[in-house]
Amino acid sequence: MLKLTRREKSSLILEGILTIILLGLLNLAVLTILQILMVNQPGVNLGFFVMQQSVAVGPIRMRIVGAQQILVILMLVADFVILWWRMVRRYHQYQMDHIISELHYIAQGHLDHRIPFSVKGVQQHVITSVNALVDSTVRSMKEEREIEKSKDELITNVSHDLRTPLTSIIGYLGLIENHQYRSEEEIVQFANIAYNKAQQMKSMVDDLFEYTKVQFNAEKPKFVEVDLTQLLEQVSASFELEAEKHGIQMQTDFAQSPLMVEVVPDKIGRVFSNLVSNALKYGDGSTYVRIATRVKDDQVDITVANDGVPISEESVQHLFERFYRVESSRSKQTGGTGLGLAIVQSIIETHHGHVGVKSDESATTFTVSIPLQQPKDQQAH
Ligand code: ATP
Ligand code: MG
Repeated sequence: MLKLTRREKSSLILEGILTIILLGLLNLAVLTILQILMVNQPGVNLGFFVMQQSVAVGPIRMRIVGAQQILVILMLVADFVILWWRMVRRYHQYQMDHIISELHYIAQGHLDHRIPFSVKGVQQHVITSVNALVDSTVRSMKEEREIEKSKDELITNVSHDLRTPLTSIIGYLGLIENHQYRSEEEIVQFANIAYNKAQQMKSMVDDLFEYTKVQFNAEKPKFVEVDLTQLLEQVSASFELEAEKHGIQMQTDFAQSPLMVEVVPDKIGRVFSNLVSNALKYGDGSTYVRIATRVKDDQVDITVANDGVPISEESVQHLFERFYRVESSRSKQTGGTGLGLAIVQSIIETHHGHVGVKSDESATTFTVSIPLQQPKDQQAH
């Protein structure tokens, strides 16, 4: 509760006393004027100022309250109401002064400060709203800062990751430029290495472009209702050949067909391509990649699973971070950038869903959950 300062308390009391004195004088004046009126014009006396009377009712003598007394009582009641009204008004004014000075304090940049007291009545709404406003301002400032920080990190990581292939491209092309080769064959070999590195850079830049597009909302997602089962069939079919090359079997287990889900089709296609291509690339010793769907209430869970060597528990926690690659994959000649799963996560977030991973001896399973219908205000117009 709000505590008044000593000064406010004493000025409140002083005001009370002054009001009482003023009202007392006013009452006296009214009584005197009426008295004078009566004395000067007795005809006007309509029983108004009848002096106190006594009436005998049986053995009891009752005092009849005269009009004068009624008037005095009425005036006292009015005095009390006026006094109360003035005190309450003044008290509210002090409350408002306190709120305003708190506001000034917050406005001076003390955003960690909240109005610490509560009051009764409408002013409490003001306090609650101000505190909520400061809260939400602080929150959005924090979010803004996070985004800034994540952009900075992204630039640092990208420059670092782009420099590695670029350095080797420059190195090999430099050898050719300075005629530091022994045979025609070596020129072709150097050019080939440079070409592969350039391809790697291109795929990284493409990934990055894709990632920033999703992450920083460059485009408004256009949701349409599609048959998810058919979409996943297509993804699975497109990997048949590659899987066969690795001696891996593509399997599907779909809950229902058709399964209508509101999605951005090419983005969701991208999600499952990323997951399946990871399974094929990194599923060491795996024999199958299985895509399955389960419908639960108003959402669908889609799993992409492969057997083989599990991912260590430590790595599992970082898989969705940008640029994260499990150490054993780094050494492989797969040439990934570590953005694939970060893209997956961003896309699923724009679909108001979530994605997780579980890895043990039996299988590594990525589970994507998305709602069958997008919230109303998200739909394409
Ligand atoms: P990109 O997809 O951008 O070309 P990437 O495949 O290395 O590069 P992600 O798709 O984000 O990046 O995957 C991150 C890392 O997670 C991979 O490098 C790999 O180490 C590990 N990983 C992902 N999926 C699997 C899987 N099914 N089995 C084992 N490891 C996996
Ligand atoms: Mg990948």
